[in-house]
Amino acid sequence: MQHLTFPVTVADDEAELTKLAKNPEWTPHQAAWIAAYQAYRANSGSPFAVAPQNFGPGVHDRQYKLYDNRKGSGELRRMRRKKGLKSCPVCGSPVIGDLDHYLPRTVFPEFSIMRANLIPACTHCNSGVKGSTVHGENPRRFIHPYFDRWAEQAIWQVEIISPFKAARFIPRALPSLEEPQKEIVAFHLENVLGIQFDLSTANEWSSLPTQIKLRDPKLTTTSVTHQLTMELRVALDARGANSWLAALLRGILSNPHAIEYLRNEAIASVLPPEV
Ligand SMILES: [Zn+2]
Repeated sequence: MQHLTFPVTVADDEAELTKLAKNPEWTPHQAAWIAAYQAYRANSGSPFAVAPQNFGPGVHDRQYKLYDNRKGSGELRRMRRKKGLKSCPVCGSPVIGDLDHYLPRTVFPEFSIMRANLIPACTHCNSGVKGSTVHGENPRRFIHPYFDRWAEQAIWQVEIISPFKAARFIPRALPSLEEPQKEIVAFHLENVLGIQFDLSTANEWSSLPTQIKLRDPKLTTTSVTHQLTMELRVALDARGANSWLAALLRGILSNPHAIEYLRNEAIASVLPPEV
């Protein structure tokens, strides 16, 4: 859930097809394939506008497998280990190291090696969490990190549902977002976050009272709010605007009852021994 700059230029992506087309098995498909790439870019990869192509019998499988043959290559490895990423650009988890096809290659094998369709992501995001889901009802689709510039900003937060002792955590698009972005974000959150998000968020939530007590001797409503604001600033810098931790802290700061609960828990908590 963030905006990324394109990994390569349009010319780089098309040059890959020109190179492939030197092989007689691909020569007949070059023109239609380049046209598919152009349609992808012209429509920002939108699954409502880009239709899957049929290049003829057997071609689907061969296009699908092109990615398998190349995923160990230097270029895709570099994309997978993209430097400077603070969290997974797809789900916001603190882990990266894989690549996800924005338009899944099971449905769109013609984009299996198009780098504008390959997004650095965590293993969870690339392990079929989205399955062959391409979109919901228009405008409900996944956020595209290369084309959706608006994903640069904070776009979601975690709503904390009481009872706070056994809180539940509901991901929500920020109320300040406009349509259609709000619906796109809602669809994205519904489809990419899994059990790891629930477990990780529950852990962060339960460790907050001790963290607050360690750092804030006053434990007034004002000082605790200030402390949580500082935690959010650290999370924004260390993990990014749409990381799990930043979204949780935004949700807490928008909920005075949650802040009060954490303050009371901090007062009652026993500090761990000094090291
Ligand atoms: Zn992810």
